[in-house]
Amino acid sequence: MTASRPAGQHTVRRHNRALVLRTVAADEPVSRARIAAGTGLTRGTVSSLVAELLAAGLVAELAVARGATGRPASPLQLNRSGPGGLGVEIGVDAVGACVVDLTGAVRAQRVAASGHRTRPVADGLRAAAGLAAEVVGEAGLPVAGVGLAVPGVVADGVLERAPNLPSWRDVDVVARAAAVLAPVVGGAPVSVGNEADLAALAEHRAGAAGDDFLYVSGGVGVGAGIVLGGRLFGGSGGRAGELGHVVVDPTGPLCTCGGRGCLERAAGLEDLCRAAVVDDLDALADAATRHEPTAEAALRAGGHALGVALAGAVNLLDVPTVVLGGGYPRLGAVLRAAVVDELARRVVWRSPVAVRTSALGAVAALRGAATSVVRGVLDG
Ligand SMILES: [Zn+2]
Repeated sequence: MTASRPAGQHTVRRHNRALVLRTVAADEPVSRARIAAGTGLTRGTVSSLVAELLAAGLVAELAVARGATGRPASPLQLNRSGPGGLGVEIGVDAVGACVVDLTGAVRAQRVAASGHRTRPVADGLRAAAGLAAEVVGEAGLPVAGVGLAVPGVVADGVLERAPNLPSWRDVDVVARAAAVLAPVVGGAPVSVGNEADLAALAEHRAGAAGDDFLYVSGGVGVGAGIVLGGRLFGGSGGRAGELGHVVVDPTGPLCTCGGRGCLERAAGLEDLCRAAVVDDLDALADAATRHEPTAEAALRAGGHALGVALAGAVNLLDVPTVVLGGGYPRLGAVLRAAVVDELARRVVWRSPVAVRTSALGAVAALRGAATSVVRGVLDG
């Protein structure tokens, strides 16, 4: 019985330390006195916890300023030189890496073309590790952890399936990434998430979409991240959001998942490019800007399919907002207008569903992966 008491005190102290750190993050620059007033902790407790946070390099003291009472007051802020988060993304045809500091500000970021569809897992990890080394070197911050974004179904740290990366099946991606990244980040912990989920978290952090929305990531595949009540909704095992494999045409073309007529085959970027008779996303975006008729017809058809799938999801989940992300924000107004049209027609509520385009675009997942590490640090 008595053994539980020190553990309890330790837990309380840790909780209070995280509370102080979050207060600094929310209100910086902030004095110890204001932290005490805001948290209800005593001045002495706040001073002691701040000393710990200073020693850990998580907060920094600004130059001493004279307080109103004449006593010196050193405002505190998050330490811009403190531990940062490394985000790494392995996509179907690209890799990315970025480092954010404790405030979430990007300190270094790189994205490079790198096709993984027919290459083994080790190649993708190696390509990602190369970029990670570059951004970590450029940022010059200690790395608190690594967030890895992948385009597939993730549960318990295992990438179970990525239909567009056939060799990535039941891969213990956390362990393998940790081994490959060890020369770059030492023993920093690695976590993994679905790219659309991490992008949705970045979108939530950006704030414009509110606390309840569905984020759609348009890439070779089409993924979704569901945010409800400000938290990511992953379903019973974290696998929710496979919007790309919702069927929009039961007699449609075969999909990489083995099904037929999936949304991905109607609104995935490769299929949109094929329908528009262009080579890649850049060419499709360019054709959309020029209002090229074949491209607009392809985007309209893709947008209607996307709207049909989204209307089903919105009717099911009761979310007031949809965010179009990934490559979709580059494709102009036609695709979005078709989505708006289908939602207006098919969602059974009276109030319209807001359709936003992500300001973060194609790097949203990378940002989400990096900032999830920092959130973990701030949450203690
Ligand atoms: Zn499918």
